[in-house]
Parts: sequence; C-alpha cells; structure tokens
Amino acid sequence: MNEDIKRAILDKIKAYSRIMLFRHIRMDGDCAGSTKGLKEILRLTFPEKEILLVDQQQSEFLKFMGPDDGPAPDEAYRESLAIVLDCSERTRISNPKYALCREIVKIDHHIEADAYGDLNWVEPERSSACEMVVDFYAAFQSELRINAWAATCLYAGMVTDSGRFRFSGVTGDTLRLAALMLDQGVDTETLYANLYLNDYEVLKFRAHVYECMQRTENGVAWVRISREMQARFGLDLETASSAISYMENIRDCLCWLAFIDVEKPEDGIRVRLRSRFMTINHVAERHYGGGHACAAGATVFSVEEMEQLIREADAAAKAYKETHEGWM
Ligand code: AMP
Repeated sequence: MNEDIKRAILDKIKAYSRIMLFRHIRMDGDCAGSTKGLKEILRLTFPEKEILLVDQQQSEFLKFMGPDDGPAPDEAYRESLAIVLDCSERTRISNPKYALCREIVKIDHHIEADAYGDLNWVEPERSSACEMVVDFYAAFQSELRINAWAATCLYAGMVTDSGRFRFSGVTGDTLRLAALMLDQGVDTETLYANLYLNDYEVLKFRAHVYECMQRTENGVAWVRISREMQARFGLDLETASSAISYMENIRDCLCWLAFIDVEKPEDGIRVRLRSRFMTINHVAERHYGGGHACAAGATVFSVEEMEQLIREADAAAKAYKETHEGWM
C-alpha cells in the first residue's frame, strides 16, 4: 500500500512544473532536513522544474543548511504542487500560503491528526520524516538523483529526530536508510560539530537548569525557563527550549517537562514533554497540544494550569510505575 502512495506522489511531482515545499513552525532538524534534502533531490532530478522552499524561520544550529528562498507571488503558489513535510496539522504549517497551492501532498511521521493533503503519506512508526524521504528516494533510486549535500541534510534530520538513533522508533530499516545516505559521502565530523558544539554561555545555562529543576513524588522532573532567566543568559527561545533535553537521563524520572515563557504572556507558556517507557502525549492533548507517544508539546495559560499539568504527569508516572516492571 505504501508503495502505491509513493508512486502516486512521484506521479504528482512529475505532473507539475513548480513544486513548493513546506514545514512546521518551530523548525527542528527533521523538518529542516527533510525539506532541504527533498528540494535538492528534486532540483537534481528535474532541472527543468522550479522547486521552492519559502520560509522565514531562522535557527542557529541549522544555519549550516543555508537560507531558504525569498517570498514568491501568490500566483506562483496557485499553479504549484505543495509538499508539506513533518507537519501533522495544517495549523502548524509555517508558511500559511500553502493553502493557495493547487494540490497538497502530506508526508509525515506523526500520529494522523488532520489529513489535510490531497495525498496523505503518513507513517507514525517512522523515526523521522527524513527517513520517509530517504525511503522515497530508495524506492525510485533508478529515477531520482541525489548528492552528498541532500544526503547530509536528510542524515542530519534522521540523527536529530531519533536522538542519535536511540529512540524506540529506530528500526533496522532506519539504519539501512541512514547507511544509504552515508554512502553518498556525508562528512559526519563537520555535521556533528554543527549539531552538537555548544557556546560557553549555553553550558553555563545548562548548569543553572540543573540547579533549578525539580522532581515530583513519582519522578517527574520539571523546570520553568522564565523570561528573566532567558535574559540573564542571553538565550534565544530555541536555546531556552533546549533545556528539555538536559533532563533526559535522570534515573527513575520517566517523564520530564520544560515550561518556557514566550515573549508575550498572552501566548501562554510553551510546554515540552518527554518520557521513556511510559507515554506522555495524552497529557499534552489535555492542554492544547499533542505529538508522539514519548515526545509531545503543549501550551498552558497560567501557573495554576502548569501545576495541574505537572500533577497529571505525576499521576501518569505513578500509574505506570505501579503496573509495570523493568523501568529505570
Ligand atoms: P517539541 O517539544 O515542540 O519538539 O514537540 C515534540 C513533538 O510534539 C513534535 O513532534 C511536535 O510536532 C509535537 N507537538 C508540539 N507541540 C504540539 C502541539 N501544540 N500540537 C500538536 N503536536 C505538537
């Protein structure tokens, strides 16, 4: 069945002279890598077509992928095929002009929440959207062209979204597809330097997070990154939000949460939720959010709601620990 949808997507691509690529808001390595990588594959394979990626988002650690395309007139959208990558809901597509496009293809690895495409290829068990793009490339290798740059972008998304091939969605297929990218000549030393080197100040911030974090009775670690803290360490929102990953290796804390104050208080407090062994997306869904079983996002609108969410996560951790063995 997936072979049919991949073939249908390739046929659609062939039918259009202009293809526009889209990704989700709050850009990460996977939505950046999948759009950049697919753009390069299409550019190499179909030099006569116009392939556009119009997006305004900036990300410090993804700068190495280079800038996106500048604005395009509305008429350009109207004649185009849109391919939206790594975005489960239409409300989270970063460039809202996707809606002007004549037809939409959705390629995503999140739980299906909104089948907004004319063609929807959704595989929630995949570890990244980049893995799906590589799978697409692998299915039509004799027809599609790739180079080391496309492979680097796609490999970067696979690495970041799978926690360096650590998360449970990683399968033998993931590694076989990653190997296919490495074979194109990815410079992993430079790539990992781009992805993982930290500024001195950021490491100081990390130390501060460890000072400030708290733990509930049943092992939910959490921290709030206030505007004051962000100003003190000179953090952009992206770096402030990365605090979630600092708490991922605490023994007995199966769930960890970061609450990040955004610029305008009326926009609420951004919540990032992560877990191992137990699932956490059901808690996010009660607070304007969602996501994967063990990696989700939400928004709370008061300190009381923040405390309520922490209690819900604590109850989920308690229930899990009481009914399961082997967790750590
Ligand atoms: P984040 O913490 O923003 O990296 O989000 C983790 C996962 O949850 C990502 O796969 C997001 O796509 C998803 N996610 C984050 N926020 C939301 C939301 N408000 N609604 C649905 N999914 C979300």
